[in-house]
Amino acid sequence: MASDTIPAACIIGWPVEHSRSPLIHNYWLKFYGIAGEYRREAVPPEQFADFIKKLGARGYVGANVTVPHKEEALALSRPDDRARTVGAANTLWLDDGVLCSTNTDVEGFLDNLDACAPHWDSNLRNAVVLGAGGAASAIVYGLVARGIPRIVVVNRTPRRAEALRRRFGERVQPARWEERNTLFIDAGLVVNATTLGMEQQPALTLEVGRLPAHAVVVDLVYVPLITPLVRTAKAAGLRTVDGLGMLLHQAVRGFALWFGKKPDVTAELRAVVEADIAGVSNKSAE
Ligand code: NAP
Repeated sequence: MASDTIPAACIIGWPVEHSRSPLIHNYWLKFYGIAGEYRREAVPPEQFADFIKKLGARGYVGANVTVPHKEEALALSRPDDRARTVGAANTLWLDDGVLCSTNTDVEGFLDNLDACAPHWDSNLRNAVVLGAGGAASAIVYGLVARGIPRIVVVNRTPRRAEALRRRFGERVQPARWEERNTLFIDAGLVVNATTLGMEQQPALTLEVGRLPAHAVVVDLVYVPLITPLVRTAKAAGLRTVDGLGMLLHQAVRGFALWFGKKPDVTAELRAVVEADIAGVSNKSAE
């Protein structure tokens, strides 16, 4: 149970030990001198509904939600348009006793691209998104919101890419996984929203040499920080954006909602989280 006297928030997941959210939020609490707490809560699926119904009684003003609870969090809260359209909620807060939710992966993705690859969307006519899960849905939401006219969604399981077309409309064009290397001719943005490239997972192999020279390649995977995709795209001279910046930017709104201060994503914060990721990667390599 969290303290009654200072605001507390948490990350709810199953498992949740791997989450960097406590590192990020506790860094900001200390940096801004705010009396608050941010904790991990390992909650199995069968206990999730009860846990968030009693969030306030447990002393929490809000929470982040991660795998596997994002869809249930949406169903059990009052979502904003963004969370409802994406189909998943990752940030909860209590507003006058009402449990509200949003999806901050959208702004995490866009704000990070704006910061790391300025003007990425100027004259962008064609984007390719690999993957059609929860993260891909948030990315497509963001690309539609920025007015990108054509978003090709390539997924191993075709029906999930087709579901994104039904959700977001005709700008989304589903494509088959086997076709992925033939879709690049005029793609100005390529986003890996699959789990390929994560530690313990196979690499995502793409023929990035087929991309136009101005293309930006984004990997949402951040463990390891330099994925095989980022490495080969960099070697090909393309602009690359890794997944850590998105993780940091998506945390901003929750912190502001719970603790009343919009925090900055700084190089120092990034270095703190990078060091943590490097520590884990080194351990698993031993
Ligand atoms: P998800 O809902 O489980 O979706 C996983 C996606 O990966 C699906 O499209 C799946 O295809 C695809 N996939 C898995 N194994 C594959 C394989 N062997 N070959 C081809 N495709 C494969 O997961 P998610 O929540 O969307 O997360 C996706 C990635 O984004 C993860 O790496 C996650 O860590 C990352 N992420 C990063 C951030 C950030 O802040 N940087 C935020 C959210 C997510 P099928 O549909 O065919 O199964």
